[in-house]
Amino acid sequence: MPERSESDSRKLLRRLRDSLALPGKGQDRLDRITHLIADSMGTEVCSIYLFRDEDTLELCATEGLKKEAVHQTRMKVGEGLVGRVARTATPVNAADAPSERGFRYMPETGEELFSSFLGVPIQRVGEKLGVLVVQSKTARQFSDDEVYALEVVAMVLAEMTELGAFVGEGEGPGALHRQPRIFRGGTGQEGVAEGNVWLHEPRVVVTNPVADDPLTEIDRIREAVGQLRISIDDLLSAEALDKDQRQVLEAYRMFARSRGWLRRMEEDIQRGLSAEAAVEKEQSAARARLEQVPDAYLRERLNDLDDLSNRLLRILTGQGQDTGATMPDNPVLIARNIGPAELLEYGRKLRGVVLEEGSVGSHAAIVARALAIPLVIHAERITAEALNGDPILVDGDSGTVHLRPDEVVVRSFRDKMAMQAKAQERYASLRGLPAESRCGTVTRLYMNAGLMADLPSIDSSGAEGVGLFRTELQFLIRNQMPKRDELAKLYARVMDAAKGRPVAFRTLDIGSDKVLPYMKPQDEPNPAMGWRAIRVGLDKRGVLRMQLQALLRAAQGRPLTVMFPFISEHEEFVTARNELLHQRDREAAMGHPVPETLRIGAMLETPSLAFAPKAFFESADFISIGGNDLKQFFFAADRENERVRRRYDTLNTSFLRFLRLIADRCAESNAQLSFCGEDAGRPIEAMVFASLGIGTLSMRPASIGPVKSLLRQVDLREVRAVVTAAMAEGVESVRPAVMGWLATLPE
Ligand code: PEP
Ligand code: MG
Repeated sequence: MPERSESDSRKLLRRLRDSLALPGKGQDRLDRITHLIADSMGTEVCSIYLFRDEDTLELCATEGLKKEAVHQTRMKVGEGLVGRVARTATPVNAADAPSERGFRYMPETGEELFSSFLGVPIQRVGEKLGVLVVQSKTARQFSDDEVYALEVVAMVLAEMTELGAFVGEGEGPGALHRQPRIFRGGTGQEGVAEGNVWLHEPRVVVTNPVADDPLTEIDRIREAVGQLRISIDDLLSAEALDKDQRQVLEAYRMFARSRGWLRRMEEDIQRGLSAEAAVEKEQSAARARLEQVPDAYLRERLNDLDDLSNRLLRILTGQGQDTGATMPDNPVLIARNIGPAELLEYGRKLRGVVLEEGSVGSHAAIVARALAIPLVIHAERITAEALNGDPILVDGDSGTVHLRPDEVVVRSFRDKMAMQAKAQERYASLRGLPAESRCGTVTRLYMNAGLMADLPSIDSSGAEGVGLFRTELQFLIRNQMPKRDELAKLYARVMDAAKGRPVAFRTLDIGSDKVLPYMKPQDEPNPAMGWRAIRVGLDKRGVLRMQLQALLRAAQGRPLTVMFPFISEHEEFVTARNELLHQRDREAAMGHPVPETLRIGAMLETPSLAFAPKAFFESADFISIGGNDLKQFFFAADRENERVRRRYDTLNTSFLRFLRLIADRCAESNAQLSFCGEDAGRPIEAMVFASLGIGTLSMRPASIGPVKSLLRQVDLREVRAVVTAAMAEGVESVRPAVMGWLATLPE
């Protein structure tokens, strides 16, 4: 067989392109291609194996093997040489294939005649589509040049799939993009939704994988890389960069200046690829490497390279963020990750959000919660699998996503949605009624909020007010510190929307996971226990004062409720409270109206505060348990860490004893007690809290109905008796006892 030259490979690509341009069905095209490749490469055999499902490959077309084997021969990923290529996403080049480790003889194909084997992956930006193989009788090692040429051909094949070249029989590469897929991630926000995919960063579609004039293409790629370098330098010269952003950009700059990267792309172009296809080929190779790398740091860097390739593709194709696609009805946003401001921009038109990354406490999750749209996080590789417009079902309750679901799944999903809608109707009928238990105790149900967008829920949910208004969102979604007047206007609008119902504004809780883009990030070993919330407020007094003034002005004489987050000792509360009183007096001295009443509370989020001197409980107008933080410190289990965050039951008797102690101490000093962590929105937990004497619960608006419904069905004295009896028995958690008791209640 003659050595291939670069122009040979260009010729082959051109023939391939012309052949693909001819009309024909998927199978005809695949047959033509295998014939053409074998002919051009001078081999007796050329075969295309494609994925039937995630781990099965099927022989879909062949020149040289027995035709009867087509669509019959199948193998698992990792099985035989073809399976090895698929698993490792790297070529296998064997002169004596039958003696190669892992060789598997497929009698139906007649391949025992062939000695040498060269297989390369068919993949598109790391997405494995199949394997392309050539074989010949003579025992010979294929040259680097031939390996390279076949890789380039495989690349074009993969690229053509995106353009639907093999659509028609469901046999071509890309058939995977039409198969149903299930992603099991985590819950970011509960709820279910049916809709259609909308990619936050749409994939660039390369329409011209083969190019005739390498010189023009090389000029194009050099110019695009030049532009890319300039844009990164510009980003790096921006002032407000934190350490992490700078580090990422430095890595980008390093890659963008890497000679190897550009050289490899230029070589691909010499072989006949267009500039765009060359970028994608490199991107695919990097992705394939990514899957083999166990080191987290290296994986991150390869991810950077992936991002960079996307930027380069956008420059080359001019497609930018906007590919001209129109947003489908009922859009479900798919992204690797997304910032809070970007998510807010989409707003309520989204039906759901699915992220590859993200965390429960991420800003995106906070916004998704505020917008009350289901959010699934950690849906691995969904951005590679999903195409704009694909039907999708999002189950935020279980953290599951069904992409391109089949009929059966859609039907059962719709049943679930209908059941939830029915339950909502039932809850809506309770809207005007109090959460009065059979014993006559009325628990007050409030809602948590953080955005103006939350406020309409106050009417629809029947909340008595806002028990926790998280003010940090307004700070997080901006690029600079908001001004006092701006905040005052916003807080006033919140109070207007609450129509006289109380709103407990919590002062800024930043630090920990909530880092302001415009504040110098602190390199803290353990930010959740670091410089956060009131600790920042008391040290950076100017920001706290500004916020307190904004709140006082927003009230315009109306009653005002303020609470301070993360108070660990009495003294902190005294200082914060005095600051607020001082600001009120200052406002009065300036002739501004001051709130008719001022209620000042503390959030109990650290165990130490439960044991504070009595004076603390006497000085606070109310105390609100921030259960999310309190629980993480009580059990020493990071609320953000999936491995431990669900490990300890909220109904664990140690925790309940602790809550009872807090409730007793508040009762002793007549301090009002509420609970505003996520657990307050879980009906069973809420019922147990209420039975312990926690009189106010603040939760997501959607939880008010279910919590109220249960509270109205039970006698809290009985709940307390069940809890006390279970505790006396020495159980770890009272949950089984409580559930058992609930099961005995009449419907
Ligand atoms: C809490 O810790 O329970 C709480 C309500 O505050 P956040 O979730 O904002 O920390
Ligand atoms: Mg908290």
